[in-house]
Amino acid sequence: MYVASVTDEHRLTLDVMVDLRNALEDEPSADPREFLVQAGFSRARDASAASMSRVAQRLRALEPLLAALPDLDVEQASARISEELTELPITPSIVDHDDAGPHIHWTPATARFDDQVLADIFMALAAEVCDNGTIRFGVCGADDCEHIFYDATRNRSRRFCSDPRCASRTHTADHRKRKRSD
Ligand SMILES: [Zn+2]
Ligand SMILES: [Zn+2]
Repeated sequence: MYVASVTDEHRLTLDVMVDLRNALEDEPSADPREFLVQAGFSRARDASAASMSRVAQRLRALEPLLAALPDLDVEQASARISEELTELPITPSIVDHDDAGPHIHWTPATARFDDQVLADIFMALAAEVCDNGTIRFGVCGADDCEHIFYDATRNRSRRFCSDPRCASRTHTADHRKRKRSD
């Protein structure tokens, strides 16, 4: 994975983490491959089906933590993230491939792909919690939607997940409620 800066890279990783979690919540058998290809994981395209299913399995195991994130304080989140980091084969190195320019890989080239994905996610989460705590994680405000989101807005005004129907049906419902009380 490669982007302009470490901060941008963390952000991209958090976005794909949220999208994957929501996709797996909708459909537990969803295939993470396209999400990871889009997010710039160069190994995603050629990874075996077995390897992809390990990624999906570990992302599903992450579900309780991701769902709880908006409610955890910094101390709780830090403890959980640190615990996960100790289980991962993290040995950072600077690499340059596919004309990307020098960037950091958190896992060695010999690491399993699911370990690489999880290491990227947990390093991004660690950086996020150190920078902002957990306040930028939220649960969609639409009725019957359990999707999570990462709020990148300056004033933290985000209320809904990335499904455009959630914002629009909630606005319609608000509008009806207002009309009734007129
Ligand atoms: Zn890379
Ligand atoms: Zn939603």
